[in-house]
Amino acid sequence: ETLEERIKAGIRDVPDFPEEGVIFKDITPLLNCPELFHEVIEHFRARYEGRDIDHVVAIESRGFLFGAPLAYAMGVGLSLVRKPNKLPHKTFGVDYALEYGTDRVEMHVDGVDDDSRVVVVDDVLATGGTAAATCELVERCGASVVECAFLIELDFLNGREKLEGHEVHSLAVY
Ligand code: 5GP
Repeated sequence: ETLEERIKAGIRDVPDFPEEGVIFKDITPLLNCPELFHEVIEHFRARYEGRDIDHVVAIESRGFLFGAPLAYAMGVGLSLVRKPNKLPHKTFGVDYALEYGTDRVEMHVDGVDDDSRVVVVDDVLATGGTAAATCELVERCGASVVECAFLIELDFLNGREKLEGHEVHSLAVY
């Protein structure tokens, strides 16, 4: 069995969540399987070892579940990207378009340093809007995105196109 096959076995499809017509990828079985959770974090740690990474930037909220243990394992800083008005200090924000309306992500102005090298982490790459806005935030701080890392990529939503110009790495592709 490959890592991708093991990960897929740890993901549950939930139809019509959070709304009708959406098949939600539920990662909680994977989180509740210690060997598999460890293997995922260890895969990312090994991948970014020796690549002069300064920060992991994790996207709210399930990105925190993978970004935090990865930053800990790598011995680098963890910076949070959150929905509006959640971060207490001064922030940068980027608005991005949804199918209906807009959304926004924010990061503390001191979240990453000038010239630092960053890995962006989230659980799922769907349309790519959230991750693309996150890359813009990181770059606005003067830092660079070495790669965007995801547990799951929903290929049919073409998220990679929105992340053009950035490296994208995902472990389980649907
Ligand atoms: P995007 O901006 O790429 O369309 O959406 C990505 C964001 O939505 C990620 O932060 C991810 O957590 C969440 N997301 C979208 N679809 C799913 C899903 O099926 N399962 C999970 N766990 N998260 C999803």
